[in-house]
Amino acid sequence: MSMIKSPEQIALMREAGRVVANTLAVVREAAGVGVSLRELDALAAEHIAKAGATPAFLDYRPRWAAVPFPGVICASVNDAVVHGIPDGYRLQDGDLLSVDCGAFLQGWCGDAAVSFVVGTADPVDQALIDATDAALARGIDAARIGNKMGDLAYAIGGAARRAGYGLLADHGGHGIGRTMHAEPPVPNDGRPGRGIKLTEGLVIAIEPMLILGGKDDYYHDDDEWTLRSANGRRAAHSEHTVAITADGPVILTLP
Ligand code: MG
Ligand code: MG
Repeated sequence: MSMIKSPEQIALMREAGRVVANTLAVVREAAGVGVSLRELDALAAEHIAKAGATPAFLDYRPRWAAVPFPGVICASVNDAVVHGIPDGYRLQDGDLLSVDCGAFLQGWCGDAAVSFVVGTADPVDQALIDATDAALARGIDAARIGNKMGDLAYAIGGAARRAGYGLLADHGGHGIGRTMHAEPPVPNDGRPGRGIKLTEGLVIAIEPMLILGGKDDYYHDDDEWTLRSANGRRAAHSEHTVAITADGPVILTLP
């Protein structure tokens, strides 16, 4: 299927994106000390169903996955970078939580993630989150007609590196539309001037994943899904689904 979407299709993707953004807002609001990740997952499931949408992550099994994903959201706490399973863990004061959510509405997918601290934030963690959000903003700003994918990747990776953080360089964003993960790959690091040309109607998920301590290394948890930082330090993940239009980048995953 073509990577290029019409304005009408982008408008439909905006509606799917709205469901995702509103779900993330509901989860964030509820994510207090003592609340379990499973409770947050149930809340997300309820919100997505109420909106007439379908969760994109539940039972998702890409080729590389040993088992289907068991949750509606990914809930990644502290050293978990991405793909955390929403289990019975109860949030503690100062935990850094990354929530990723995907949903289908009328056959179109939205995908977004947000990181925040539960309760009292260590300034070091807040700075990491701010840097991740800033890297995402840089990436979005580079999602313009005439740029190449390498320009966008460099915008993300350069921002993270300059700020002294590690990042998951071999994981990144993706094209999105009728399926959640589609062509083209959207790397989190790269070289300016390389890669495919960004063209009108391309819709991509942009998602920097930053790690404290400046190292990129990570490992797979025994649960087959969670990616954890090798140094045991905290990580953050921010994501938006973005359309490249004649008027510049348009974020589709907003409330
Ligand atoms: Mg996501
Ligand atoms: Mg994604």
